Parts: sequence; structure tokens; C-alpha cells
Amino acid sequence: MRLNAEETARAARSLTEGIGRLASRPVRIMEVCGTHTVAIFRNGIRQLLPESVELVSGPGCPVCVTPNEYLDTAIAYSSCPDIIITTFGDMLKVPGSSSTLLARKAQGAAIRVVYSPLESLDIARENPDKKVIFLAVGFETTAPTAAATILQAEQLGIDNFFVLSAHKLVPPALRAILTAEDINVDGFLLPGHTTAISGLAPYRFLAEEYRVPAVVTGFEALDILQGIYLLLEQIAAGKAALENQYSRVVKPEGNPAAVAILDKIYQPAAAAWRGFGVIDGSGLELTLAYKRFSAQDMLPLSGVITREPAGCRCGEVLRGRIVPAECPQFGLNCTPEKPVGACMVSVEGACAAWYKYGQGRWSYV
Ligand code: SF4
Repeated sequence: MRLNAEETARAARSLTEGIGRLASRPVRIMEVCGTHTVAIFRNGIRQLLPESVELVSGPGCPVCVTPNEYLDTAIAYSSCPDIIITTFGDMLKVPGSSSTLLARKAQGAAIRVVYSPLESLDIARENPDKKVIFLAVGFETTAPTAAATILQAEQLGIDNFFVLSAHKLVPPALRAILTAEDINVDGFLLPGHTTAISGLAPYRFLAEEYRVPAVVTGFEALDILQGIYLLLEQIAAGKAALENQYSRVVKPEGNPAAVAILDKIYQPAAAAWRGFGVIDGSGLELTLAYKRFSAQDMLPLSGVITREPAGCRCGEVLRGRIVPAECPQFGLNCTPEKPVGACMVSVEGACAAWYKYGQGRWSYV
């Protein structure tokens, strides 16, 4: 049921008052997903919360958590005359160790921006003498589309299409956060889109093993306020449970068809995350039956030299250790026009969101 403006304002006021009543002690809530970070800023939700409720961003921006090594590998591929890179546009400006895909494109490298991985198959068919590599970056939400593209390539007999997989799974990163000794999180606002694919089961460990409340939350302002309210309600009652605020979209079992296609094409594997290092079981690699579509396996590169940008604290931002404004480069050397790190590039990046919206009492600069 859609609320009109007056009803929405009334509901927001009621939730905000409820949050104020429940926020009797300082709590630290992590909004895991970059879409939440942006929605929180855009709707002014930080300004509605009591001082005692702190929101920190988490590792849910796929471009941000993709380490430089991946960018450097993609940039190295772009120097090969028989390779065409296809990518979503948000990867173009992410700084690698010494260049960006955007700079390589301006220099004439064959880099095509696509809106769906399926476009890569058309490019592969139009260029049979080239190898087309799709930069497969994203979480559970986007991985099924890449998997479907691989299935289609198989069905069409396209043998010059490959993926450079950096797909990642969110739950292992949350486990890494909870096992780190220096990070305190009292509750998680969980992404409503990855859970729409995976279902709730992969997130049950948060409450069952770590006794940390978690609420799967939608992306409207009222969703987020209600998600925070439900978390505070649990915290105030000393409870830890996994709740689903976004039940109009997220089913407990997720999307079985999407999970089936993922399981057919991919299997969990160790993966490197910016700021975390390698996390067991947090990535997706192609299964043996589909390895022939893996750029890493079929078109191996050697001698790629990689380094993280000096002074960038993106890794700490992604782990919730600091807020972006605590990075000395924030807004000075590092802006969306001239980003130092990935978190300032993506529209879902915490640093970019703080730069665009994050003035006022939450700004430390
Ligand atoms: S402000 Fe820039 S340099 Fe600092 S952590 Fe964010 S992306 Fe890195």
C-alpha cells in the first residue's frame, strides 16, 4: 500500500519518536550496503536520529571492495591487442595502481561500457578474431546475470567470451567484521537486494553465533527508519534475532531460480577484498564445467604489479573503523572529480556519499 505525503510524514515522525525513546545508550549500527548509505544521506536520516545512534558504512559497495590487483589486471588486459574489455561504467574511473580504465580508453584501448553483460555476447559475435572479457564485479544481486550470460554463451557456442570474476558474497565479510577485535557493531541493517537472491539463511549466523541483531531492510526512507527502529527494539530488549523488514520483496527462501543458476556456474572460493585481505569462501569462481569462460584461467597474465593508493583509508571505511571524514585526504586531495581511492568513485561509495551529502553535524572536517 502506498502512503500519501501526509501519511508518510506521520509514519516517519512516529518512527523517529520511537527511535528516540529506544535510544537510551550509544549504539553503533552498520548499514552494510552502499545503496543504504546513499538513501540515508539523501533522505536526511542521520539528522533525524538521536546523537546516541551512530551509523557507519559497511563493505556493501562492490566497486569499493574490489582490490587494486583486479583493476591492474583489467588494465593489463586492455593493453593486449586481441582483447576487448566490457564493463559497467562505474569501474571506469576507479584508480588502479598507475592508471584507470577510463585513461586507457582515452588512449585508444578497446574498452566498451555495457549496461548488461549480455551485450558482451553481441560484441564477441561481431569480433570473432578478438577475445571479449567482461569485468564481473558485484554481489549476489548481479552475479546471477553474469551466470546467465555464461549459460547463453555456452548455448550459442560463443568461445571468445570470458569473465574476469570478482563476484563476492556479503555474509563472509560480515563474519570477518565480527571476528575483528577492533570493530564494534551493535546491529546490522542488511541489504534488501542481496537477500532477495540468497534468502535469509546465510545471515542467520549473525544472531545465532555472534548475538548481533540484524534486520533486512528496504531502501525507502520509511524502510530505513523502521529497520533502525527494529534494531533498537532488539538491542533495548537484549535480544538478537534476524528480522525481515523488507518482506514485501525478500522471501525467506530468496530466489531459488537465481540461486540454482549461480550454483550451476559458480562455486564459493577465497577472494581478496579491499581493506580485508583474503576472506575464505567470500568470492565466486567458475565451476570446473565452466572454467573455459574464466579469463583468470584461460588467459593468465603474469607480471602485474599492484599497490594500494598511498594514504587512502578506504579499507578502514569499508570495515566501519572510521567514517570518511576522518581520512586526512577527504575533500582535500580526494574528491569525486579527482578520487584517490575507490570509495570516492562509485555513487554507492561511502566517501562519495559523505562528500556529496555529508555536511553538518556528522562531518568531522
Ligand atoms: S577520502 Fe579518498 S583517500 Fe580517503 S579513504 Fe576515502 S577514497 Fe580513500
